Amino acid sequence: MSRILIVEDEQHLAEGLRFNLEAEGYQVQVLDNGEAALDTLTKGESAFDVVVLDVMLPGKDGFAVISELRQAGQFIPTLMLTARGHPDDVLRGFAAGADDYLTKPFELTILIARIRGLLRRREWLRASLGNGTVAPEPKEAFRFGDKAVHFDLLELHVRDQVFPLTLMEANVLRYLIQHEGKPVSRKAMLEEVWGLHEDTDTRAIDNFIVRLRRYIEDDPTHPRHLRTVRGVGYRFVSSPPA
Ligand code: CA
Repeated sequence: MSRILIVEDEQHLAEGLRFNLEAEGYQVQVLDNGEAALDTLTKGESAFDVVVLDVMLPGKDGFAVISELRQAGQFIPTLMLTARGHPDDVLRGFAAGADDYLTKPFELTILIARIRGLLRRREWLRASLGNGTVAPEPKEAFRFGDKAVHFDLLELHVRDQVFPLTLMEANVLRYLIQHEGKPVSRKAMLEEVWGLHEDTDTRAIDNFIVRLRRYIEDDPTHPRHLRTVRGVGYRFVSSPPA
């Protein structure tokens, strides 16, 4: 049985979600603040499979919670609930490490479908990591220099180091790699990776790049793979000249 943690301070909404998700066969726990969520999720082995995290919470908001979770190395699939009409919130959520989002108010059936999607990915990861059995040959790995991006495992391998990627980090990287050698505008990334057509602050993209550079570049202040194209956006170069 999959276990879902709901972090939501609006009691009616939280209890409604609990009722409906339990009816779907999930085990549900509700917490009404971010500090308690961080406590629960960062102590030892997490007992949850998916987190539904509201942005507007008393004390630490959802952005702070997801960002601290990821910094603590907790990569549990997380769906954020953001306010409608705030595309910047969506980007901020993804930049902080969220895997998916829904705007409030939402249809329950959509929420359940999104949770199923996140659980499928988690199950797939578990199966592919194996339990003592031979790990399957990773598919979809893109190699450049001494680095490899395993899109199916959501991992970036740099020599003997492994960096877990969020789904969105992987998507940003995949998009740049697909356009290897060509400049890609921030606007194109917003539209193609996030599906956002609104007039959104494109600086959120820059936060992603800063993070990806920390993983990928030997010297993030002098990037060789994730190059800045002034006035446009970014360009991925797999084999930069020495
Ligand atoms: Ca709230």
